[in-house]
Amino acid sequence: MQIDDVMQRSAQAFALYKEVAPSIRAAFLETIASEITLVKDTLVAAAQAETNLPAARLNGEIVRTTSQLQLFANLIKEGSWVEAVIDTAKPDATPAKPDLRRMLVPAGPVVVFGASNFPFAFSTAGGDTASALAAGATVVVKGHPAHPRTSLLVFEAIQKAISKRGMPEYTVQHVTGEGNAVGKALVVHPQTTGVGFTGSLQGGKALLAYAAEREVPIPVFAEMSSINPVVFYPDALATQAEQLAQTFAGSVTLGMGQFCTNPGLLIGLKSAALDNFASLLGTAIAAVAPQKMLHKGICEAYGKGRTNMLAQENVVLVNQSVAPADMEAWPSLARTAAKNFLANPRLKEELFGPFSLLVECEDKAELLAVLKSLHGQLTTTIVGTATDTAQWKDVIAVQSTLAGRVILNNPPTGVEVCAAMVHGGPFPATTDQRFTSVGTGAIRRWVRPVCYQNFPDDMLPDALKAANPLGIWRQIDNQFTR
Ligand code: NAP
Repeated sequence: MQIDDVMQRSAQAFALYKEVAPSIRAAFLETIASEITLVKDTLVAAAQAETNLPAARLNGEIVRTTSQLQLFANLIKEGSWVEAVIDTAKPDATPAKPDLRRMLVPAGPVVVFGASNFPFAFSTAGGDTASALAAGATVVVKGHPAHPRTSLLVFEAIQKAISKRGMPEYTVQHVTGEGNAVGKALVVHPQTTGVGFTGSLQGGKALLAYAAEREVPIPVFAEMSSINPVVFYPDALATQAEQLAQTFAGSVTLGMGQFCTNPGLLIGLKSAALDNFASLLGTAIAAVAPQKMLHKGICEAYGKGRTNMLAQENVVLVNQSVAPADMEAWPSLARTAAKNFLANPRLKEELFGPFSLLVECEDKAELLAVLKSLHGQLTTTIVGTATDTAQWKDVIAVQSTLAGRVILNNPPTGVEVCAAMVHGGPFPATTDQRFTSVGTGAIRRWVRPVCYQNFPDDMLPDALKAANPLGIWRQIDNQFTR
């Protein structure tokens, strides 16, 4: 497949699609959702065969995907997301001020890399595609090589929606290919204006490097690596150990740990309560049966990474499940002292699978040192009672700087798709911490602000016209109004 042809077609479709009225774009998104629902059983069967994920999880993920499309349809039907700002002319001011009106407009064709661990919700018709289409961008999907058939079937559902709603033929295109060349060609193509990616740190950094080498650099919104540190504060550990062990064993092993929000790092202060918790958590993790991982590469990477982690000096295995069979993950809990953690950078790297490392701190100073040594994260979780949150305010303040989502007394796995969600964070969690890849805020990755100066009303986009024909919320002369 000629990537140049694909991107040229995407650019031609963009010239038409960006002019499609928001209500019609919304109907298009809704039709993609209904076409996916129509072939749900076929999609689940294909994804089960390609990803080893259980049917219940895949069915849930399809609902998440269609709900996500509906969420973006609702967002653009309402319309205020364009952030219309109007500063009316002040002809009598000295100097006179012109009429200035700003809104967000789509930037151009977007390339989306499907993720291996979410064959629906972060793939062909997933959050990146839904948010880009909602913004008015055209999309080229690079299907993940681990689930090519699933990706193609979802693309066929999108094609039906394109045809039913009379959208430009190449509003969404689908390409495949293994071995980096296709991905690189898409990112460096001059017509590409943005990239969405969920995957490895290595892959995300490679895409960022391709983008930086271009004559015209473009943003790469890559979600890559996070160990999601959880701090267990002392009163919670002393009073809720059993319940916490069950909850966090569930979170560490959910989907065999193949979630970007998997809690890979657990931190507590040295105490009998921490020892008790470690033992209970180890037992609960060991009780979880190994299951198949998404693909051979991920399973091998987890196997090697786990062996390597347990071979590090002063890292001790607390407990593990029964030995896994071929392609299965090995649920495990390990433990180390903070001084080892601080001295060994490898212990801070993501290990994608059902593994967590418990770090034991001697005192508050060491706890603070551990927190300050961490890379950027998608989430960080505070496990504490009211007594803890009152007593450890300064530590919690440091902890809260680490991630895009700061959680109190919930496990980090489970990412709501809603307006308030932030699924992003400082590098290497993502390449751009100002944005989220989940929730309605994800649309902001694919747009740019444009200011219209001194335009007559009939030349302005509807969102900026004096009569506000779309009925959206706008900021006029510093007042929010509708
Ligand atoms: P990946 O290797 O990063 O691949 C993701 C996508 O990017 C694929 O389409 C891949 O296609 C492409 N790609 C990777 N490197 C590239 C490069 N240098 N140039 C151009 N394209 C490139 O991720 P994966 O296959 O999903 O899993 C591998 C590892 O990623 C896992 O073991 C895990 O550590 C991590 N991972 C993390 C998350 C997370 O949410 N944090 C999610 C999934 C995976 P080609 O191979 O065809 O080039």
